[in-house]
Amino acid sequence: MAQSDVDVVVVGAGFAGMYLLHELRKTGFSYRVLEAGDDVGGTWYWNRYPGARCDIATTDYQYTWDPELHEQWQWSEKHAAQPEILRYAQFVAKKHDLYSGIEFNTRVDGAQWNEVAKRWSIHTSTGETITCQHYVMATGCLSVPKEPDINGTEKFTGNVYVTGRWPHEGVDFTGKRVAVIGTGSSGIQSIPHIAEQAKELVVFQRTPNFSMPAFNGPPPQDRVERLKADRATYEHEARYSGTGVPLEDSTVSALSVTQDEAFEMLEEAWQKGELLSLGNTFMDSAINRKANDVVAEFMRMKVRSVVKDPAVAELLSPYKHGYGTKRPCMDTGYFETFNKPHVRLVDLNAQPIRSITETGIDFGKESMEFDAIVYATGFDAMTGAIVSANITGKNGVTLKSKWEHGPLTYLGLTSVGFPNLYMITGPGSPSVLSNMMVSIEQHVDWIRDTLVHMRENSFDTIEPTPLAEEGWRVHCTDCADITIFQEANSWYMGANVPGKPRVMFPYIGGVGRYRMACEEVVAKGYLGFELAGSTKKQCNDGLVRQVQPDVDMVLDFISTLNLPAMETMSPTEARAFSEASSAMRPSGPEVGEITDGVLQGADGELQYRLYRPATPGPHPIAVYFHGGGWVFGSHTSDDPLCRDLCAQSNTLIISVNYRHAPEAPFPAAAEDGFAALKWVHANAAALGGLAEKIAVAGWSAGGNVAAVTAQMSRDTGGPQISGQLLLCPVTDGSHQHGSHIENGERFILTKSLMEWFWNHYATPEQRKNPQASPLLASSLAGLPPTMLVTCQFDPLRDEGNAYARALMQAGVKVEHVEARGHIHTSITMVDMLPSGAPHRREMARALRGFFS
Ligand code: NAP
Repeated sequence: MAQSDVDVVVVGAGFAGMYLLHELRKTGFSYRVLEAGDDVGGTWYWNRYPGARCDIATTDYQYTWDPELHEQWQWSEKHAAQPEILRYAQFVAKKHDLYSGIEFNTRVDGAQWNEVAKRWSIHTSTGETITCQHYVMATGCLSVPKEPDINGTEKFTGNVYVTGRWPHEGVDFTGKRVAVIGTGSSGIQSIPHIAEQAKELVVFQRTPNFSMPAFNGPPPQDRVERLKADRATYEHEARYSGTGVPLEDSTVSALSVTQDEAFEMLEEAWQKGELLSLGNTFMDSAINRKANDVVAEFMRMKVRSVVKDPAVAELLSPYKHGYGTKRPCMDTGYFETFNKPHVRLVDLNAQPIRSITETGIDFGKESMEFDAIVYATGFDAMTGAIVSANITGKNGVTLKSKWEHGPLTYLGLTSVGFPNLYMITGPGSPSVLSNMMVSIEQHVDWIRDTLVHMRENSFDTIEPTPLAEEGWRVHCTDCADITIFQEANSWYMGANVPGKPRVMFPYIGGVGRYRMACEEVVAKGYLGFELAGSTKKQCNDGLVRQVQPDVDMVLDFISTLNLPAMETMSPTEARAFSEASSAMRPSGPEVGEITDGVLQGADGELQYRLYRPATPGPHPIAVYFHGGGWVFGSHTSDDPLCRDLCAQSNTLIISVNYRHAPEAPFPAAAEDGFAALKWVHANAAALGGLAEKIAVAGWSAGGNVAAVTAQMSRDTGGPQISGQLLLCPVTDGSHQHGSHIENGERFILTKSLMEWFWNHYATPEQRKNPQASPLLASSLAGLPPTMLVTCQFDPLRDEGNAYARALMQAGVKVEHVEARGHIHTSITMVDMLPSGAPHRREMARALRGFFS
């Protein structure tokens, strides 16, 4: 007789539940494992449609926790078919005696948290109630088929099949008239097989999908060799990779090569017959629509090369969504199938289904009769299986109601209000965007270790904090925001199920980065979790990820370069270093015209670069001062940012090469700034600009020069300024603000580099002068409207924030943005860091606003 009170209840005996069962036994927890089917295998138990096959190679889609399996089990193919994967699951279950620990044909009807007993009550379809301390949903991401949302489905009297619930005995379509609705992975894999048997096959397509041939054969020899030579390294690389397969990340932009070169590279990836190789060819196809178009066009070209009827080829070619933004497919002979005379493609956009009838389907102006209808219409993905299990947490709140507007989890593993509930590959974890085997093993390991930790430390409950959960939601959104995934109506976005909230369900920041976040949480004493026992409580509240994900990647990359600190260099070396770094960045958008010239500074001529919009002039003008700590940089060094501001704000930008320290220390830069403003004002018409519409702008030390210039202009009756745009300005050299310490290391501009800049520019006494430290001016009243952007992880954040506050207090119209998750340099990194783009848009909008 099974125990009715156990340590852990696990729902599901797919690969996740099976491994967890093994680990629970190993670590000595009592358990019940409940499975709705009558065998192990999960996804591979249910999805038995013809042609069902994994799209990750067998070298990677297998367990790693039992090294003996690698000797005892040999895969026959590169991409294993469903029967072989199911046999593998059964083999593992037999080898480890897992069958004896699983209760089959047992569904969970509901679960309630008992706050007094600190235990879950689980109600099963057999009428039993089991109580447990920990409740684990190992229910899979694609396990609940989507409810049919087509008119009249119940009327059809012929045979109906759903790909995700295929009959175990198989189906013979010989001589039959068959309709298949849906052209996702399941449709695309099954259609060629159904076409081989059917007398007549009509495929109803709402959205064409990207698909590539699997070129199936033996497992990829190079990877088999790598595995044999050093399995530990291979598996480590997989665990810390982007997708759970150890592929080298591309460093090539699709926009940096010609289309011929791009197609050559894509052809090489195509020939490998591996889904991830194609998406991995270019570094920017997931984040840049134009880069993605290169891949998409390659794929469309492939369709045209196979499908003989050009009109059908066009219908089979995706245009509305980017490559990869809906799960791309791997097929065997899919597009070739449409060359067969008995196969027809119906475009549901032109001929929508009016109704399923008793004998067939009415669509467009036609009615057709069928013997069988196959629904390959997908799943209520990621959350369907979890919310349908009726989970009620603290205070009677159900998970379904909590997730009404989108799933809220911490790390995709846990959720506030649901203590001791764990989800394996839940929403907010990489799950379906990864090799599921790697992600499953990571989650099982994390849960096992947490349970052991709690037992050893006498904690009864674990629950994430609201702060941590909200922080994770924000981080997941930040990750999604820098990609183009949100443009597509995909099941990743919940868009396939009517009424489902439209959010990005999986975590798109990558398997390795995700794993590191989970590891960091544990290393920091379960950061963001509250652990409680009968006599003690522990809560290290906080956020595990705050820096914008693309900024974080750049920081990680830079840290691998072991670059010397700039403050250890001479000014000449630092200038050369800065120029060399600038040469490697993208150039920024096109503008109407770029010309170089000289203007009159405070003590001689200064170079300037003029960026003219492509629209007819005359234009408003922004006199721009570059960053570089008054020591390095020039009129060309902020080129991408100046182009971007020019193009987006329709403003003529004049970037000034003011004199630099230590050769020309304070107040040279300030005096040059003011002189440049006066010269531009006097020569505005000749430059093609409007003298009555001049603003100043600058970044970092250039922001300091801009702010000081605005004050000098106010104080000495200089030209009337329409506004000042200050990005991370230096405003106060007289004392250190908290952010100098808080953000003093790791974020490119360091505390010691800032000190180096100041030491070259101004003496401690000079720094008290408002022309060095504009925050110290006796009054800020009468300054022009201001847009001031500070960055959360900038050492200069607090002095910028203080300047914004002081301006407001002085009655100046100020728009102040503290860019969340950004560092001192990130907003200037045009076309490199997508997360900076919204802030540059706002800066350009503010600039336009100064002149309106
Ligand atoms: P899917 O990708 O969601 O595809 C469902 C298809 O049905 C889509 O073409 C969809 O059109 C269409 N559809 C849905 N509702 C419809 C309606 N009311 N009227 C007309 N058409 C409708 O589902 P899936 O093919 O089962 O695949 C789901 C996921 O499972 C895959 O993306 C993949 O991650 C996984 N999978 C993997 C493999 C593999 O490893 N090889 C195989 C199968 C599945 P829209 O696109 O317009 O919504």
